[in-house]
Amino acid sequence: MRFNSITADAVVYHCAGCGAALSAPTAALLLGDGHSPDVIRFPPCACGACLFALRTWDAAPKEIAGSPADELRRAVNALAQHLLAAGRSHPDHAKAHANEAATPPDLDVFPLDLAARRAEHAAVERKRTAAALRNLAEQADEKAKAARAAADALAPVEKRRAFDESRAAHDAAQQQHLARRAEAERLAREASEAAVVAKLARLTPGADVAAADALAVQASQAAQLAAAQSAMAFHATTEAHAAARTAAQALDEAAKAVKVAAGQIAAALLAEQSAVDAEKAAG
Ligand SMILES: [Zn+2]
Repeated sequence: MRFNSITADAVVYHCAGCGAALSAPTAALLLGDGHSPDVIRFPPCACGACLFALRTWDAAPKEIAGSPADELRRAVNALAQHLLAAGRSHPDHAKAHANEAATPPDLDVFPLDLAARRAEHAAVERKRTAAALRNLAEQADEKAKAARAAADALAPVEKRRAFDESRAAHDAAQQQHLARRAEAERLAREASEAAVVAKLARLTPGADVAAADALAVQASQAAQLAAAQSAMAFHATTEAHAAARTAAQALDEAAKAVKVAAGQIAAALLAEQSAVDAEKAAG
């Protein structure tokens, strides 16, 4: 059974069998039924359930304090005390009841409006839940703010670092490129001069043909070296371009971090709105 209210006029309760809302005049109830001095019998429900409640003389364990079972014990004992005071003892137990020195330890005040008490309790719980949600939203908001501040602080630093690295890499590559190009030009010049010398040596009357050929070979080798240096200078330029690409990627990463922080802020604002809605619903 579950009681909604117990007053001097009526006991309003739910059937333990079918859950129907029922009411019995308090003046029609007795404490005791000829067998037990602690039972209160209620009119049978239309569903066939035989309804009764029992007084309890022990104290409920602390673990069930505030539970529906605890509430029921205190309510039944309060009703029993009211019936005793109103002289509504079953004749077979009237003498025993009159001689009772103690009252059950778990006792509610009479009359009881349990339904109103439960509604009040539920409202308090709803408010507490809303406040907890709001607190969570505020925490999320704080975290998002911190993330945004960190991202904001990091973005210019990362940008600057990427820019500096890019410029340093580019400068180094350019230096290499210029040095190798100068070397290539020098080698090319030498090769050209050696070729001229070789040609002249062959054309001179009584020339040493073997020495002239050796000079020509030297000129050819110098020309090959010059070509190799030129190729390396080109490679240095390619490396500078790769460094610039890496720097651009670092900038992209910084921009992504800022976007993630913005997402967190949006989520925090949504959570806060939900908390506000829940609080409004709680009243
Ligand atoms: Zn019933």
